[in-house]
Amino acid sequence: MAREYLKKATLTARSDAADVSATVQGILDDIEAGGDAKALEYAAKFDKYDGPTLMSDAEIEAACAQVPEKLKADIRFAHDNVRRFAEAQKSTMTDVEVEVVPGLIAGQKVIPVDAAGCYVPGGRYSHIASAIMTVTTAKVAGCKHITACSPPRPGVGIAPAIVYAAKVCGADAILAMGGVQAVASMAFGLHGLPKANILVGPGNQFVAEAKRILYGRVGIDMIAGPTDSLVLADGAADPEIVAADLVGQAEHGYNSPVWLVTDSRDLAETVMARVPALIADLPELNRQNAEAAWRDYAEVILCADREEMAATSDEYAPEHLTVQAEDLDWWLGRLSCYGSLFLGEETTVAFGDKASGTNHVLPTSRAATYTGGLSVHKYMKIVTWQRATRTGARDVAIATARISRLEGMEGHARTADIRLAKYFPGENFD
Ligand code: NAD
Repeated sequence: MAREYLKKATLTARSDAADVSATVQGILDDIEAGGDAKALEYAAKFDKYDGPTLMSDAEIEAACAQVPEKLKADIRFAHDNVRRFAEAQKSTMTDVEVEVVPGLIAGQKVIPVDAAGCYVPGGRYSHIASAIMTVTTAKVAGCKHITACSPPRPGVGIAPAIVYAAKVCGADAILAMGGVQAVASMAFGLHGLPKANILVGPGNQFVAEAKRILYGRVGIDMIAGPTDSLVLADGAADPEIVAADLVGQAEHGYNSPVWLVTDSRDLAETVMARVPALIADLPELNRQNAEAAWRDYAEVILCADREEMAATSDEYAPEHLTVQAEDLDWWLGRLSCYGSLFLGEETTVAFGDKASGTNHVLPTSRAATYTGGLSVHKYMKIVTWQRATRTGARDVAIATARISRLEGMEGHARTADIRLAKYFPGENFD
């Protein structure tokens, strides 16, 4: 049986990408020419904010004091989990040393970048967890300076819980600014900040485009589009939980696709019947997002068997992938394209989004075919070095001279010749 679409998306990617790109390029050019003052002008224009930009210690303390103790404990719990996982990942990044040929030793060193700029989105929702995910990983990686920025609310500033999370996780500076102006401020080193070597963190289309344009001058974690999620469920899955998980991810935004892939028509039909009621029961803003996402972007795909389900999932390469099916080990071994995988009913995407330890900054829009998500590795450079004895250099120099001459690179060849002549006088290496 070929796979059957019980529900098909009517919309795909947005078509205004060119407009966004031109707008963002214009703002970046303006801010590069106009510096701090221009960035502040855009903050006033887009976020109606003219309060303090770089938060002082006293302002940070005052914001933290507003956060309820229980929420502080939850943030510290999530931070501990993300830190522990990041530390384990960092332990896989090791220096290497190998004697490639006798007398020639080469190695790799793993060096963190100096300055990281962490974008914490804050337009629609207050993404406390994004502060935890981005700042903690930068800290564990060993960055010397970490800036966290987030859009301020008019007359209020950054949500206090975001300030608390950024501080607890290790931010050295907190910039009350969002959008392109914040990305530019970190990249260009405005408001007294060091120039960021890498910009990380999710954000809307303006933020993502600013990072894309600046890539090359600075590093970035990835180019992120709207969040997407796929659930793989067999006939044994609980349809109520499957439906709740789909709705939970559809609330991200009007254009956040959720996909159900199953080999059970019964399960598919039960879930499709249940989703609208769960959406209708959400608070207003969340309901609007989820309703549009479900109507325009969601898909329900019926497959013949688990092999076809897995192949379909790999083709979609979702940002978040949930398996609610038997034999979880088979799925873990078989699936290869996803940002983060959630195996079994007992865990769910929201756990990873908020508190379980794996990172929630993940590849969207099929980028999981070529990359994973944010981790300490993104802040670390693998650089190489080498040294040789004169004997160790002999054969390498001979090969280098010949290859260089064949390529027409005479200057390169002579850097080998001069060494051969010095270390092995009188020998003929033609
Ligand atoms: P945001 O902080 O990304 O964007 C708000 C900023 O957008 C404002 O500060 C403003 O300066 C700028 N802006 C708004 N309209 C503009 C315009 N017309 N021109 C130029 N700039 C403009 O917050 P958001 O908008 O709520 O978006 C958050 C995004 O982050 C969502 O798309 C969400 O799905 C995503 N997200 C992704 C992940 C993930 O890991 N993939 C996690 C959390 C959030």
